[in-house]
Amino acid sequence: MTAPPPARINLLDLDRRDLEAFFVSLGEKPFRATQVMKWIYHERVIDFAAMTNLSKALRERLAERAEIRPPAVALDQASRDGSHKWLIRLDSGNCIETVFIPEPDRGTLCVSSQIGCPLDCSFCATAQQGFNRNLTVAEIIGQVWQASRSLGDARNGNRVITNIVLMGMGEPLLNFANVVKATDLMQDDLGFGISKRRVTLSTAGVVPALYRLRDVSEISLAVSLHAPSDELRNELVPLNRKYPLAELLAACRHYIADRPHRRVTWEYVLLEGVNDSEAHARALAALIEDIPSKVNLIPFNPFPGTRYRRSGPAAIARFQAVLLAHGLTAVTRKTRGDDIAAACGQLAGQVQARGRRLERAARAAR
Ligand code: SAH
Repeated sequence: MTAPPPARINLLDLDRRDLEAFFVSLGEKPFRATQVMKWIYHERVIDFAAMTNLSKALRERLAERAEIRPPAVALDQASRDGSHKWLIRLDSGNCIETVFIPEPDRGTLCVSSQIGCPLDCSFCATAQQGFNRNLTVAEIIGQVWQASRSLGDARNGNRVITNIVLMGMGEPLLNFANVVKATDLMQDDLGFGISKRRVTLSTAGVVPALYRLRDVSEISLAVSLHAPSDELRNELVPLNRKYPLAELLAACRHYIADRPHRRVTWEYVLLEGVNDSEAHARALAALIEDIPSKVNLIPFNPFPGTRYRRSGPAAIARFQAVLLAHGLTAVTRKTRGDDIAAACGQLAGQVQARGRRLERAARAAR
């Protein structure tokens, strides 16, 4: 019997520094990393044989030791409004979703960071799926790679993807190390070269991870607030019981401190009769008054089985008017990709949950 071949390393799992170390470990010069990254991220070439500025011998060694394997696209859907959604197939029947939203002045790609999500926010479709596992670096950056290939993005021509948001499935700060490496690759000139401020991480508020993020990254911060009081936020975002508002706001102030032009984007999903009154808007304004802010009001996107309803246009307009009157920047997010269920909170994929739904079923049976 012959021994199985050693596992090959997926180069999409490596950021620039890792890739340099990998080449050094092969007895090569670190600048090979530059050449290979240009092939992968600028030319979108993943076959070593086609990397013609590497010697034939090195190409052969690479093919033995390594691979460049983005996750596979199972389905590519285009919406009538120009939005796109890709269903990306991972292992053992799990799928995640990636969404592209074109606007006149930018093109935003929304990527996932976990298979499912462990946070259980009461108004989110992903929560219903349960949680399976964190995505690898290759699976996160691979979403950008696949989307940019599918959109025919050109590095030197008109860039189609100008912004990236970690607002798909999952809580990015619970997959800290992989998310930081993948966002570094999004920003690296040898990677996708998106400017720092155009890469945004959205979190439900994992407070200790926010302090760590401040030390290692400069990406823009969006926080899913959704309620101006602990009592209501405990109900909508259960993570609030662990990290209540006062702690979350302190971490956000720290994140933007001493960084010019920085502000926090607050996401606030408007749920009819739950968090959408003028009193809620006034309380919200008071809460974030002293923080450089932008508020993104998100009309709730329903999904099968939800108990919530979208606030009506009049309630949304009133809520926004209160924020504006307090001098805050507040925009109402347009709902896009309705026909392909690509809107915020509708990403479901196919998740083999580990545990939580079973636990719930067991609790219900008791
Ligand atoms: N876990 C991260 C990122 C994923 S959610 C976070 O909580 O920020 C991306 C955004 O969509 C969040 O602001 C989330 O609260 C919002 N969202 C979730 N479900 C929604 C729904 N059904 N309608 C509208 N927005 C929703």
